[in-house]
Parts: sequence; structure tokens; C-alpha cells
Amino acid sequence: MTQESKIHSTRVDSRHVLLAVGAVVLASVAFSRGNKTMEEPTNAKEAIAELLAGNARFVAGMNKSHKIEIERADLASGQAPFAAVIRCADSRVAPEICFDQQLGRLFVCAIAGNITTPEITASLEYGVAVLGTKAIVVMGHSSCGALGAALEHRQNTSELPGSLPILIDQIISPCAMNLDPSDPKSLGVATACNANMVAKELIRRSPVIAAAVEAGELQVIAGVQDLKSGRFELTSN
Ligand SMILES: [Zn+2]
Repeated sequence: MTQESKIHSTRVDSRHVLLAVGAVVLASVAFSRGNKTMEEPTNAKEAIAELLAGNARFVAGMNKSHKIEIERADLASGQAPFAAVIRCADSRVAPEICFDQQLGRLFVCAIAGNITTPEITASLEYGVAVLGTKAIVVMGHSSCGALGAALEHRQNTSELPGSLPILIDQIISPCAMNLDPSDPKSLGVATACNANMVAKELIRRSPVIAAAVEAGELQVIAGVQDLKSGRFELTSN
């Protein structure tokens, strides 16, 4: 090896060392940011504020909460989610990403049209009574196929295949029956109506949830995520 190539080799090695050290430092910062400095909400108001702050990060492309390998190790022994979500089954809707939350912080139930069923109500009761969730979010979204079907088939769902009429009928009667499907605003109106209705229904159907709300330990809220912007906007509070 010539003297010049030795010098060049030494410089390259030094740069690799510096880059490696830098990567370790950055990884340490990311670990501490992802795992240690995220405050746990202590009440419903803080829980909702944390969700909306996370959504603002998501909209800005500044998500910071997904250090998967760290989360796995820490979460193997238990969970303590601060909020619960009913989300649509739509593949474009992901509360952990939309609200920029780590695994273990959101208790999520998924069902087309983000409606509630006895099983989903029971799941949320577990979230509230056992896991201590402080907020329940009914999360609608733009361009929802279930809400679109409710509008389109509002007069008769029997032509829908399989078990779909059982699901779609739950949306129609309060939120889609009197809307004009040809009006471009109708889908948004029906989506917000459905989210608000489900939030009220949860409290009406569940004595566990109603008691926690009455005691000031829980808030049930509804909102809609715009798929294009990513922004989640409350439709109730
Ligand atoms: Zn949907």
C-alpha cells in the first residue's frame, strides 16, 4: 500500500468510526425520546390533547413513536393504554399512526363503519374498567365504503351480500335515511352523524362506560379523519 493510499484508508476508517458513533448517539436519543420522555396522560382531557397533538405530528409528517423493536421488549409483560378507539376496518385507517402513538398506548377495536356491537362494547368496558383508558374515540373517516353503502342502499339493504345488511342497517336509520346520495356533502354528513351516534350509543348501552363518564374518569368523543390530509377533527366533545 502506498503512503497516499494508507492516508486515504485511514481517513475513510476514521469517517466510518465517526459515522458509527453518531449513529449510536442518534439511536440513544431516539430511544429516550420514544420510550422515556412521553408523558402518560392522567385524565381524559390530557388523553384527548395527547391524541390531537399526535395527529398534528402525523399531518406534518413528523411521527416519532414507532421504535418497534424497543416497544416489543417493553410491552411483553403488560399494557396500560390511555385511550381506546373504535376504527373502521378500512385499510387506510390506522390509529397508532394517525395519532402517532406507540404500541401499548391505544386499545383499538376495528369494524366496518366504526359502529358498536355487544362484543365491541364489552371490549371497551374491559379497556375502561381493567386497563384504565381515559378516553374512547369513535373514529370515522372520509370516503368510507360502509357509509357509502348505507347511503346507496338506504331504502333496502336486502340486495347486499352475506351479513352486510345486519351491519349497514345500523347506520341507515339514524344517519342516512333522509340524505340525498347524489349530494356530494351527504357522505361527510352521514359519517359525522354516525360517529356521534356511536359515541352516544356506547354510553347508553354500557353501564360501565356510563358510570366512568359520570365519575369524570372517562370521555367518549367522536371525530372524522380526512384521509387525504390525515387530519382528525372532532365532531363531538
Ligand atoms: Zn370506513
